[in-house]
Amino acid sequence: MPKSPTPPERLDATFLTSAPDLARCPAPDRAEVAFAGRSNAGKSSVLNQITGNRRTAKVSKTPGRTQQLNFFDVRTGGRLVDLPGYGYAKAGKQAQSAWQSSVNDYLSRRDSLVALVLVMDIRHPGQPFDDELLSWSARSALPVHVLLNKADKLSSSGQQRALQQFQRTCPDHPALSCQTFSALKGTGREALIDQLLAWLATVPEA
Ligand code: GDP
Repeated sequence: MPKSPTPPERLDATFLTSAPDLARCPAPDRAEVAFAGRSNAGKSSVLNQITGNRRTAKVSKTPGRTQQLNFFDVRTGGRLVDLPGYGYAKAGKQAQSAWQSSVNDYLSRRDSLVALVLVMDIRHPGQPFDDELLSWSARSALPVHVLLNKADKLSSSGQQRALQQFQRTCPDHPALSCQTFSALKGTGREALIDQLLAWLATVPEA
């Protein structure tokens, strides 16, 4: 299909379901792009910004769903999957290890997963876990788009420096892209939506 010259302003996405583990995920019949990131990096705000819907990430922050995988159907095709945030200081060891096993399973065994969006705070990119996820996805040849979020916290030259610094120091990866983003202001939204639409149009392997 020819690519639309201008991406839509927002992605129309509706909540489908939550799953505590891979076995209870919906049938892998559509391309999925998963969102991951350290708690507080702004993952929920990013999802709200691209869907234009404050309820999108609210669903994922509802107690009981915060440690689950939350699925959203995109009207034009494909799914977004909000993974539980990692590294939340107050989460006990048990919650952290539940995160690891459900997310590890999902990331390593979900047939319909086509790509990952990794949300980081532009002021502290490449934290533990971020780098692990990047290295793991490099080994698995899973495409990753890194969002250096909260760009509004830096001057525009500071943003460019942070982007270059990240690109210089991030692990080698066969399919890595990276952009600055502000979930607060919406800066970078079109580039992200463009990337998501390209990925969501992929047909998952049977
Ligand atoms: P999550 O835990 O990763 O889902 O993070 P949230 O979306 O809940 O955001 C954590 C905090 O960062 C909240 O206070 C947000 O308002 C703030 N935040 C998120 N994105 C941005 C951004 O782009 N700029 C600024 N200045 N604050 C942001």
